[in-house]
Amino acid sequence: MKELLSRIIVGKDPVVESRIAHTRILLTGQVAMVGIFISLFYIIRNLILQLNVSYHYHAILLSVMILVLVLNRKGYYLAAKILFLVTANFLIFLFSSAASYYTGSFIYFIPIFLAAFVLFGYEERTKAIFFFLLTLFLFILAHLTDFHIVPQVTLSTRKMFESFIVNFFTASFLTMLLINFLIRENYYYTEELIQNEEQLLDKNTQLTKINQELDQFVYSTSHDLRSPLSTILGLLQVMELEKEKENAGYYIELIRNRVHALDHVIGEILDYAWNQKTGIQQDAINLHALLTEILTNFLQDEKTQKISIQIEVQPTLEIISDRRRLKIILLNLLSNAIRYHQYDQSNPFIRVSSTIHQNQLEICVEDNGPGIHPDHQEKIFEMFYRASDKTTGSGLGLYIVKEATEKIGGTIHLRSDYGKGSSFMIRLPMLQ
Ligand code: ADP
Repeated sequence: MKELLSRIIVGKDPVVESRIAHTRILLTGQVAMVGIFISLFYIIRNLILQLNVSYHYHAILLSVMILVLVLNRKGYYLAAKILFLVTANFLIFLFSSAASYYTGSFIYFIPIFLAAFVLFGYEERTKAIFFFLLTLFLFILAHLTDFHIVPQVTLSTRKMFESFIVNFFTASFLTMLLINFLIRENYYYTEELIQNEEQLLDKNTQLTKINQELDQFVYSTSHDLRSPLSTILGLLQVMELEKEKENAGYYIELIRNRVHALDHVIGEILDYAWNQKTGIQQDAINLHALLTEILTNFLQDEKTQKISIQIEVQPTLEIISDRRRLKIILLNLLSNAIRYHQYDQSNPFIRVSSTIHQNQLEICVEDNGPGIHPDHQEKIFEMFYRASDKTTGSGLGLYIVKEATEKIGGTIHLRSDYGKGSSFMIRLPMLQ
């Protein structure tokens, strides 16, 4: 019904600059339709009762209101509004100055006062004030002076009563239409304002968080970048002072370790930035092959060779996920499991297993290393959080793991028995 009315009034795809302009155009059409209804009612009634009273004025009202509808539909919105208000003012003046108070035709002055402001709105308030003053002038002329263009009509009490009922209801309906428009628009914009405010508060909280993270980021990364550099500078000085040239190899090894640490931090910063910025990919991944690829690098290290690394993943298992993010996640978890392991304990192991459960892929990276103290377990995924003073890392690894996991729609949980080992459980949605 609403759709049909809108189609009749504005056509299929009107080009309108704003929502309020659109509803105003609809309203112009609606009030013109009420005008058509009133004129038709009186024309039909007068025809049936074979009366001659103000017959042609209703015909004028009918044709002008049809013209208003046409102008409005053709996009001449201002012309339609002006034509409507001029005609309505003029006819209301004619009817109410010619008919008795008891017909109630003066009630139309109320919606016509309102219409001026509602149709033009605040943007075109000078036009609205002009029509308001015109209506006020015509009201005074019709009711406080003896001026009238058409001779006064005398109607029977019954006909006056009939006219009163029709006029009262249509004028009330028109008033309701206009007030409803105001209330609806007010409601719409208040709601929009509330929503905008909520979004703004949300954005503000996000920005504050990002700002704090950035502060911490700048502080911690500059510290993590400077500390290996200072060590390298110190080692170089010691090397210069060293008389025994054969000791150089020892210092070079220490410097190499520091350079690797530096490289690691830079790599983590790059991974972090990449994860924040880049959209998600959907790649077909063979999980077993990916794990083998990651472990190949680690296995060259002598210490890693002391750990039994078990991959309990079906070699044929293919999943759809973001390959690079999954690689970052597994690489960080495996690197931690290796770096923090106690190589000299009996039977050190790392186990990576996978299961499919309720359309979700679960990957578990487990080790029987030192475990993580319960005091640290909650904070372990925070940015730059280190669970012990002995760690050489930046504390960014698990933060990146969590961010990347969440970005590909997954979750990560830690289960750790302090002194016995840790297991990180990742749950990922199984994409088709
Ligand atoms: P880092 O760069 O310091 O390794 P992470 O965010 O990767 O930073 O890890 C945070 C802390 O969690 C580490 O400093 C370490 O103390 C602890 N940790 C992470 N993984 C393990 C693990 N598998 N076993 C024991 N401790 C771990």
